[in-house]
Amino acid sequence: MNRDKEYPLDKEMQQNLQKLLVAVNLFRQHYGKPMSVSSGYRPAAINSKVKGAAKKSNHMKCLAVDFKDSDGAIDKFCMNNLKILEACGLWLESPDATPEWCHLQCVPPKSGNRVFKP
Ligand SMILES: [Zn+2]
Repeated sequence: MNRDKEYPLDKEMQQNLQKLLVAVNLFRQHYGKPMSVSSGYRPAAINSKVKGAAKKSNHMKCLAVDFKDSDGAIDKFCMNNLKILEACGLWLESPDATPEWCHLQCVPPKSGNRVFKP
């Protein structure tokens, strides 16, 4: 979305993004079907306008990505393959909380649970 032009990534965010891309690309190989990003990097100025977005969202730090998942297929795959999430180094926001999308992040939530409530 070119958001990085107006709100450039700092060194830490670039490293986070690199880590996230490696994890997500690995996940995609397991999933084996096309996946499209619905939301990636969200600068603070934009994140604050997103309805329901967490104030300290991992999207702001390039540590999280949302994929379009209106039929819940990616969420379902994740729930059935927690070992794959673990192998990729990814954590899933509870599908109950993400009806139209699938939120994956490459850092553990506070709870440490592989599948977590926001
Ligand atoms: Zn998200």
